[in-house]
Amino acid sequence: MSEIIRNAIEALQKRNIEALYASDRNVAREELIKIVGSADTVGIGGSMTIQELDVVEELEKQGSKVIWHWMCLPEDMMEVRKEATRAKYFCCSTNALTYDGRLVNIDGIGNRASAMFYGPETVVVVTGRNKLTADLDSALERIKNVACPLNARRLNLDTPCARKGKCIDCNHTARMCNIITIIERKPLLTDLRVILVDEELGF
Ligand code: SF4
Repeated sequence: MSEIIRNAIEALQKRNIEALYASDRNVAREELIKIVGSADTVGIGGSMTIQELDVVEELEKQGSKVIWHWMCLPEDMMEVRKEATRAKYFCCSTNALTYDGRLVNIDGIGNRASAMFYGPETVVVVTGRNKLTADLDSALERIKNVACPLNARRLNLDTPCARKGKCIDCNHTARMCNIITIIERKPLLTDLRVILVDEELGF
């Protein structure tokens, strides 16, 4: 384990956020499944990391109803997003994790970012080492100039970042950066846990 990862895990723990190290995505998947157990409902926020973890089938085998708007009909997406935030467990990633243990997220609608601190009783954040950033400025820089362009292209959006590969702080109708959240400490009513994976996952 690198010193940066060890320090980030300790920093999260000092912020009363339970943090676990996973050497790769297979270990991360096992840890996530262990935490969720056979919960009745598991919501998932839009997340390439969770998709790359390939965890849905396993959760369903354990008896959980998985609620994820990436797995439903387009006309049902809004309702499924809402239902996911009412699930007992919620799984997602973070757009950035600072070396000193702050979780930084940018969201267009806000369902994923808000569910990380209000709604589900337990939130499991799985993040690859590629999301680690030195500080808040570099977290925002990473999100706007790395994550957003890649996400916009994935979604076939015509935002400036999708075209140019960098943010121009646009006012596009499909702008995906309308809400910025920083989780500084464990949210009072949420059992927030982070699995830090020692490989690149998502963006
Ligand atoms: S503000 Fe606009 S250009 Fe910048 S990252 Fe967000 S959507 Fe892209």
